Amino acid sequence: MFGEYVISPQVSIKAVNNVSIELKKNEVIGIAGESGCGKSTLIKILYGFLQPPLTASGKVLLNTKGGLDLLSVSEDYKRENIWWKIMSYIPQNSMNVLNPFMKIGDHFVELLRKHLKIEKDEAYRVAEEYVMSMGMRKDVLKAFPHQLSGGMRQRVVVSLALLLKPSIIFADEPTTAVDVVLQKVLLQLLTDKQKELGATLVVVTHDMGVHAMITQKVAVMYAGRVVEEAPTEPLFEDPKHPYTQALINSLPRLGDDRPRIGLSGSPPDLRNPPPGCEFHPRCPYAMDICRREKPLRVKIDKDRYVVCWLYAKR
Ligand code: SF4
Repeated sequence: MFGEYVISPQVSIKAVNNVSIELKKNEVIGIAGESGCGKSTLIKILYGFLQPPLTASGKVLLNTKGGLDLLSVSEDYKRENIWWKIMSYIPQNSMNVLNPFMKIGDHFVELLRKHLKIEKDEAYRVAEEYVMSMGMRKDVLKAFPHQLSGGMRQRVVVSLALLLKPSIIFADEPTTAVDVVLQKVLLQLLTDKQKELGATLVVVTHDMGVHAMITQKVAVMYAGRVVEEAPTEPLFEDPKHPYTQALINSLPRLGDDRPRIGLSGSPPDLRNPPPGCEFHPRCPYAMDICRREKPLRVKIDKDRYVVCWLYAKR
């Protein structure tokens, strides 16, 4: 699939470029990479949430009864049948997405009434039981968002996303704005619920530590492409793509107090990306072919793929 921000007839940015990804049931998948590499755009497309100037092409196939291409159905259809019920999305800065004029309870009641077609009183009772099952006091329903701490608002948003027991949960930087203690609590909550529901959890974050902690598979993105895809353990033990190596080598390690080596340079301007491999201006192994031709996707092991000339047979 492709995702493009059309800024004007002359200017467009290919934020997601020829990405193919398979999400399996009961799996936690991480999407990694620096800011601006296309991670958030990719999950917006997978969720079918396309707001101008974002446009997408390709297919997002849902394995529902009869099959469904999410990019070919209307927004109304997705609101009615897909979003919240089959797929849910925890956006970036989610603690600020609650309507400040609505009490927390109203957010839950509105969602329950719309999708379960139940009366307001019953919806409120269901919401009370549910928030308690999510580790909150039922009084939280009487509060306005500004009366809660940032961490509690984050917990509310995560709870709303899980309320209708979706099969696929997208979480965009779910722990970026919270301290490490709350980060651990929220990740635990998300993974516990993912297991309980047997759902697929797709976590987007630049934090490789989070990927190491909770994911089973990671797709590493650079300049709108997935450059490496692998099960988490082998990826961290033996990263193949030079960009993945740089991301992992920059992580602090217990007992190793040598200075970490960061990646020099910055991601390319996607309005005018470099020819050949987009990573070549920053890559210590760049060869002539890298500056001229796009590398191919190579299978290097079971469920392991890398897009790099170092691994392609020529
Ligand atoms: Fe480096 Fe070449 Fe591989 Fe790109 S294709 S990551 S420039 S070695």
